[in-house]
Amino acid sequence: MERHANFIGGAWLPPQDGRYYQRENPAHPEQMIGEFPASTVADVDAAVASAKSALAGWSSTPGPKRGALLFRFAELLEQSKEKLARIITLEQGKALCESQGEVGRAAVEARYMAGEASRPFGHSYPSERPGVVCYTVTEPIGVVAAICPWNFPVVTPVRKMAPALAFGNTVVLKPASLTPWSSIFLMRLIEEAGFPMGVANLVVGPGAAIGDALVSDRRVAGISFTGSTLIGTRLCSMAATRLAPTQLELGGKNPAVVIDYDDLQGAAQEIVSAAFQCTGQRCTALSRVIVLDSQASDLVEKIVSEVKRIKVGDGISAETTMGPLVSMGQFQTTAGYVKQAELEGLSAITGGKPLVSEPATEGYYYGATVFDGVSPSSPLAQEEIFGPVLPVIRVRDVDEAISIANATNYGLAAALFSSRRDVIARFAATIEAGMIHINHGTASQAHVPFGGRKDSGQGAFSIGPTAREFFTQVKTIYAK
Ligand code: NAP
Repeated sequence: MERHANFIGGAWLPPQDGRYYQRENPAHPEQMIGEFPASTVADVDAAVASAKSALAGWSSTPGPKRGALLFRFAELLEQSKEKLARIITLEQGKALCESQGEVGRAAVEARYMAGEASRPFGHSYPSERPGVVCYTVTEPIGVVAAICPWNFPVVTPVRKMAPALAFGNTVVLKPASLTPWSSIFLMRLIEEAGFPMGVANLVVGPGAAIGDALVSDRRVAGISFTGSTLIGTRLCSMAATRLAPTQLELGGKNPAVVIDYDDLQGAAQEIVSAAFQCTGQRCTALSRVIVLDSQASDLVEKIVSEVKRIKVGDGISAETTMGPLVSMGQFQTTAGYVKQAELEGLSAITGGKPLVSEPATEGYYYGATVFDGVSPSSPLAQEEIFGPVLPVIRVRDVDEAISIANATNYGLAAALFSSRRDVIARFAATIEAGMIHINHGTASQAHVPFGGRKDSGQGAFSIGPTAREFFTQVKTIYAK
């Protein structure tokens, strides 16, 4: 079993106190995939110091030159697609085809950001005073802490590192403890692409032990965090005490609203794909269906028949379309929500059971689950389960559908399936979410702003042109 290291100042360094942890393959929990640093605050300190000392050189490197290195990084990502996709599946569990898609997507996002390094910015202003020129420039914010979750272990780090580096910031990346291997591989590509030492640093270790040190370090100018609302809120308040900006991409409870739609089969396919990809562990997963009574039975029947086509298994196998949950914790959370729904008197119309009797040895497999007739106030309909469970809520009319769609604390993504133009216009205008999808599932694109409202996010949207709003700061210059 390979023992991995942190990447600090361009060198692969063991954790300073020499402690490691092992991570298992979620499809075969008795197989360990590697030993990873259980870093401490001393490692965080070294990584931040390295990022700080690389900042002056990197921020003054011409943008097109920074972009060229990112283009090279994107090319290496694409060339490594098969190898890296395998690593994602071994540590995260998702089906290999999804992992391949994730690497491809990360390369496209990196390329967009490589281009950003050469695009114009700033404005010039007509002056009130003759002989005085007024203009703005944007500058990097400084050292950025990039804290990532485990569900997209390649796309999320790239979504943070690429814009940070494009705009002249330096980075300390902290991946989720469940999926550190992908980030280690990404750092090897950073090294191979020829980035200067110290511009990108990696510290692997438990967030609970090293997160506070990273977020409260005054040398860290901003924090880009993707993860749970609970941890994001905590980090945000900690960062606020020293006015450090945060970009928070948090949880969701994303509705699929179905109202007078002519293609229920198409809707069922889109909903099932968006609900169960990544075993339901996507922030933008469709996690509740809200459907008019008149179409509900027909839609539910079609959803169930689509769900039955899902092939659950080891993500490495070519036939698998849904892998195991990422961890015993996620497995138990999913099972807990199903049990609680049963206590409420609901019973799953498909799934609702683990697919193994001993998850700790056979893998964290849970069946794709659908509940019908769920109350909008049920925990199934209110809370982010982050597993393969889809509740269906039946409603009488459009008013009720929209009101229920907005009646959670979250506001990340929402989908509508409707053939009525009046409903489409109303939905787009009144749904409280950062991203709205009409007549298709919640799939985002690699150059279009991405983010949420309410408890789903705060700060600048990531992806595409809005990334600049977090990773740069404005300076106004009056020159006589
Ligand atoms: P999480 O528990 O909040 O962890 C996210 C990251 O924060 C991990 O790297 C974790 O490290 C770290 N962390 C934990 N405690 C910390 C602390 N006290 N200080 C600093 N960092 C700390 O979330 P998760 O379970 O990994 O991911 C699932 C969540 O992410 C879901 O809620 C999902 O919706 C959300 N998500 C949102 C988006 C979006 O774009 N909106 C995208 C993907 C996922 P350890 O792993 O070491 O604990």
